[in-house]
Amino acid sequence: MSFETVTGIVLRYTDYKENDRILTVLTRERGLVSLTARGVRANKKSAASAVKDVFCCGEFVIYERNRILLVSSSSLIEAFYPIREDYDRLSACALIARLAEKTASNERSDELFELLYSVLGFVSYSPVEPQDMLLAFAVKLVSIEGYEPVITSCALCGKSVLDSSSIRFSCGSGGAVCGECAHDEPSYSPMTMEALRRMLLLDTRELYRVKLTEGMRSELKKLLFEYIEYMFEFRVQI
Ligand SMILES: [Zn+2]
Repeated sequence: MSFETVTGIVLRYTDYKENDRILTVLTRERGLVSLTARGVRANKKSAASAVKDVFCCGEFVIYERNRILLVSSSSLIEAFYPIREDYDRLSACALIARLAEKTASNERSDELFELLYSVLGFVSYSPVEPQDMLLAFAVKLVSIEGYEPVITSCALCGKSVLDSSSIRFSCGSGGAVCGECAHDEPSYSPMTMEALRRMLLLDTRELYRVKLTEGMRSELKKLLFEYIEYMFEFRVQI
């Protein structure tokens, strides 16, 4: 039996049998994995039970048996405890975890892991608006997964859209479309598109600087959630 150590963040869990728990974990080394932690609900001091709750980041020593990954032991790196103390933080982070789970592959994912770790840290320990961190996470996610939208020019003909009073966005075309190429796509204010452009340019470690107005927030939520649903084929909000 060979052991392997992975670092990961718990996105979700399902209790199983009497005392087991199946953790859905975004790991740096293997991307998205299911890890079975045996006996963790009966014995709180078991070696496998240190990291068993949603949003907790830890190191897991794992092994494979009958094509199932089992946790031999785990150690907590960061619990991001303040997420659980506030409803707005909790609901934003629940959606962040859902987006991560639905878009992650089962391949090594340093960038996505770093993004998730950073954003959960900002929600926990910085004076940020949780909804802004959710949107910043969504923007960087589409970029990491290879679907960065075209913002300043038409995705179809390449003409600049910067001097338009409202900018149409086409999920199917992968970005903004000019008045001549547009059909009936929804339109967004230039301020919202500028916020989107700036968020794409920000380094992951600087996302705590994102501060949106209420208007930008609701426009970006519509644009990004529709775009993610189109590209990844799942319902963002259930
Ligand atoms: Zn065009």
